[in-house]
Amino acid sequence: MRIANQKILLIEDEPSIADTVIYALRTENFRPLWRATGRDGIAAVRCEHPALVILDIGLPDQSGIDVYREIQALGPFPVIFLTARAAEVDRIVGLEIGADDYVTKPFSPRELTARVKAVLRRLGVQSTPIAGDSPFLVDSQRLLITYDGKALTLSRYEYRLLKVLIERPGRVFSRAQLLDLAWDAPEHRLDRTVDTHIKTLRAKLTAIRPGASVIKTHRGFGYSLQVTK
Ligand code: CA
Repeated sequence: MRIANQKILLIEDEPSIADTVIYALRTENFRPLWRATGRDGIAAVRCEHPALVILDIGLPDQSGIDVYREIQALGPFPVIFLTARAAEVDRIVGLEIGADDYVTKPFSPRELTARVKAVLRRLGVQSTPIAGDSPFLVDSQRLLITYDGKALTLSRYEYRLLKVLIERPGRVFSRAQLLDLAWDAPEHRLDRTVDTHIKTLRAKLTAIRPGASVIKTHRGFGYSLQVTK
């Protein structure tokens, strides 16, 4: 299990607190992102797919609790609340809204990063970089693959196909092998199904790293993944 290198989103309107938290997260090898309003925070959850969200309850545009509900509607994102008052803790606990943890201000950055690690560990987050220098990260729990640190928006079979290729970089797979490894529904078992998915995957990868041909075609046989940092 590897919890370093995870993307952690901080939604907090006070820059001095944000600075401290970001610094502490970087020190622990997390990849922090900061948004200062609920609206920007929700947008960041949607496109960045953070491993965990640290959410201030007192935000300028909307209540952290409303933000929390919107975040949960997007998927099972773990959340640690930051609260300024003990009364808010009662509210979080009283509402039973299912936050993963909370930290009361003022807090020590060390305490917060310890909570972040504990929550990730508890959830068994396993974003493992594949080969040491791979630009890909596969998060099997979230069914998410990032490329150069950017989350790919993949269909179910694109995800499964790319995961197969990533796990054995350089190995050449035939279309039949890829169908066996990535597909389960018999009605999808056509060689051209693989080709179609490879094509859309390539477009998504090229959008992030233009000019790179990551998935290589082996004429008359199949495909392999060429990983370069
Ligand atoms: Ca605040």
